[in-house]
Amino acid sequence: MLQFDSFSLKPVGLPCKVVVEPLFSFHKSTAMHDSLLGKILLLALFTVAVTGTDVVFAQGKKDSSNLMHLLVDCSKPHRGLLEAKLTIPVAVTAKVRKISLWYPKWVPGSHGPGGPIANIAGLQVHDGDGERLNWRRTPGEVYRLEVEAPRGTKELLVSLRYLVNQPTTTSFGHDCFFAGAMGVVNPSCLLLYPDGVDADEQQIGVSVHLPGHWQVASALSESENDAEEENTRSFRPVSLRTLVDSPMMLGRYYRSFDLVTDNTLSPPHTLHVFTDNDSGESISDDVVKKYAEMVRQTSHLMASHPFDRFDILLGVTDSLPKNGLEHARSTFNVLPPSSLQSVSALKGWDRLLVPHEYLHAWCGKFRRPEGMLTSDFHTPKDTELLWVYEGLTQYLGELVEARSGLMSDEEFKNRLLVELRNAMNQQGRQWRTLADTAAASHILRAGSPSWGGLRRSQDYYMEGMLFWLEADARIRHLTNGNKSLDDFCHSFFKSQRSVKQPAPFDRSEVVKQLGSVAPFDWDGLISRRIESFQKQFDPEVASLLGYRFEKSSNRPKIPANTFRQRSGVDLLDSLGLSISSTGEIKSILLDSPADRAMLAPQQKIIAVGDHKWSANHIVNSVKQAVQGNPIKLLVSEHDRIKPVQIQYYGGLVYWNLTRDEAKEDWLSQILAARNK
Ligand SMILES: [Zn+2]
Repeated sequence: MLQFDSFSLKPVGLPCKVVVEPLFSFHKSTAMHDSLLGKILLLALFTVAVTGTDVVFAQGKKDSSNLMHLLVDCSKPHRGLLEAKLTIPVAVTAKVRKISLWYPKWVPGSHGPGGPIANIAGLQVHDGDGERLNWRRTPGEVYRLEVEAPRGTKELLVSLRYLVNQPTTTSFGHDCFFAGAMGVVNPSCLLLYPDGVDADEQQIGVSVHLPGHWQVASALSESENDAEEENTRSFRPVSLRTLVDSPMMLGRYYRSFDLVTDNTLSPPHTLHVFTDNDSGESISDDVVKKYAEMVRQTSHLMASHPFDRFDILLGVTDSLPKNGLEHARSTFNVLPPSSLQSVSALKGWDRLLVPHEYLHAWCGKFRRPEGMLTSDFHTPKDTELLWVYEGLTQYLGELVEARSGLMSDEEFKNRLLVELRNAMNQQGRQWRTLADTAAASHILRAGSPSWGGLRRSQDYYMEGMLFWLEADARIRHLTNGNKSLDDFCHSFFKSQRSVKQPAPFDRSEVVKQLGSVAPFDWDGLISRRIESFQKQFDPEVASLLGYRFEKSSNRPKIPANTFRQRSGVDLLDSLGLSISSTGEIKSILLDSPADRAMLAPQQKIIAVGDHKWSANHIVNSVKQAVQGNPIKLLVSEHDRIKPVQIQYYGGLVYWNLTRDEAKEDWLSQILAARNK
């Protein structure tokens, strides 16, 4: 997952009156049973009783008797509602029994218990005879419903509405959105599954009603039965895990591109692009070529593929939230308009998105921390190894970005400097380890408006990236350049070119595989970098790469649109203070001159010396302070104004990253494109 950390789409909370009425009739006399869906539903009659069990799901049987089915109606996208019908085969052998149904709570890729159940409306459950069944929520567990089913019930027929475009802080990448001429359906939003089923064993078919003239793209394979209704697409049954992992992107304006230049190197890869209209959005051949090169470079990096086909779903629009989410055989991505007009138009987060989500097919989806690999979507996950899942993906994504030419070496160095600086200023490491930012991932998703560096955020992404860059540099040092992290990737992600179940790993396997590439105390390094409290960040990675990371009076020239480059007036390296362009204090380092002056986030600087606030005035006052003049400010706080003096006389200083000519330039070798 890669969430745009400055993007904020407030949930839409329009008051509305919802008339609760049956969405669908499940009586057998309806015309539904004359349709293909009806035939599927009739096939879904049920199961084998097991001694001592009152409700049984024949999940081991991969045939029609065990088939769940999901029908999604998105034919009226402008209404902001999806309607879904779900068929669940069951066998109730006692007089009246409760059947527990779960709504997906821990959706893969979201790293937290954030399934958007709040967006469900109009939920009704019927039995196969069309009798409406009572349900009630399990006390203490909002994601589980108990349905009362009479003896002899062979299937549950669930109908529901889903309110689209109302994401929570954790649901962006796995929510449902429709706007204008496109939309995305994440099946987990529309799904209930019985307690006790195994997500790899339970099979489910899916059909989708589309608006007229819309296309749909996903990693699911369409069924070969073409006797279905116009504007309906049906897909071959897959496991629950695969369905939840297979978003569908839909739209009126659609183009697709083959990204494989060498069939012996990679299985088929398709780039599916949905746009707002058919006239305004140009898609540069150069961008498509770069994405094809991304596929080629990744093939060299990984040497094998854990899938037999890959689909990159890409919406180019500003009407859907800017976000992305990884999947085993596809990725979901949304970029703003004009992103694909040229390679140079792709910058920062926008450029990083597609490579990052793509590399997750290996790291996170195929190889997954064992604590995050559960057989259902409600068992809590142990996310502590996200420093591998996300940190290694972050590194490999940026590496492939550079090797494919999407990013220049200079831009990579700018990114490195930005992250080294951010790590130096992340003081929360004194009480919270990097591993804890992963273990507590889902409570750190939303940004902190003040003192964010003390709380820490999801640092396992970027500081995890720095760890893996250091690991790459160390392997090259230890082997005199004969091996690299590429060799680790070859072995750690080794797979056959077919659809694979996720393969779990633990910390000890990471240590062992690193050691097999280059013997070293990897256990100790992980302990120091990832699992220990630290007085401050150790930037040793810079010198290992052949660079100096040190302070000087030179301000590094980093383009403002570099990912995670701070905006406004950044004086963290001197005053310990960063300020917005209009004077609001954004962050302060503890024990810095600004901290000792008792400044605080969200105060506003309204004057510098004798002048009204301006960025130039405060920069000049820092320069002039070397002559022994304290920096004088007027600061507003609520309805008060107070004078503040910052006792700092060291002038402007900034962290810089410069080449150390006395050392080997390992970074250039790391970033070099591969041809085999
Ligand atoms: Zn990610």
